Amino acid sequence: MSSDEGAGRPLVAILSGAGISTDSGIPDYRGPSGLWRRDPDAEKLVTYDFYMNDPDIRRRSWLMRRDSAALTARPNRAHEAIVALERAGVPVRVITQNVDGLHQAAGLPDRKVLELHGSARSVLCTRCGARTATEEALARVAAGEDDPACRECGGILKTATVMFGQSLDPEVLAQAVTIARASDVFVAVGSSLQVQPAASLAGMAAEHGARLIIVNAEPTPYDDVASEVIREPIGEALPALLDGLAR
Ligand SMILES: [Zn+2]
Repeated sequence: MSSDEGAGRPLVAILSGAGISTDSGIPDYRGPSGLWRRDPDAEKLVTYDFYMNDPDIRRRSWLMRRDSAALTARPNRAHEAIVALERAGVPVRVITQNVDGLHQAAGLPDRKVLELHGSARSVLCTRCGARTATEEALARVAAGEDDPACRECGGILKTATVMFGQSLDPEVLAQAVTIARASDVFVAVGSSLQVQPAASLAGMAAEHGARLIIVNAEPTPYDDVASEVIREPIGEALPALLDGLAR
């Protein structure tokens, strides 16, 4: 943590999951009525081996991204409430399981957001590592390239997301662990806390003395070690909670 911000004020870490973005129109694919429960084949589109080895999966994956709401979605009240907390001078770090970039779109500086599962807003070449904007790749798809290749080297392009079968970036994960352990308040919002290792951050924070607050519609495995569990809708509950923390 840099020493130039909120000297002496408690560090608030926020772990966000899919539930924070549903009000922005982004469906929770893993949720009870999520796409992956209804269409198991859909999971192949975001599974690394299938994606790398099957051009047809890549074509379908690009079409899915073209049709997805993630790139046009706007931040909602919950994202904005986190920005308001940061602007009130409270040291804030967000650790997110989401790839939609909505925390930054709401105005949170990049350096205060750790994207555990990467970002759907960028595209990476799997051969040379060149990074470009997803919009650019989707424009090529719209223009008729159904599986656009890297313009530098011809390699396979994929979004800069962590697909099934890929490991999390160890550096990003290490930073998340440091933040969880250093936090005074750890708010887990819109996450079922069932996907590891992200979920274990909540336990780590509690073990290191943080006040753990869980905001989620459904029960989580960490409810028992939480100081507070809030079941109200995130769009109302989170602004109220963070407003209290800003005082
Ligand atoms: Zn390349």
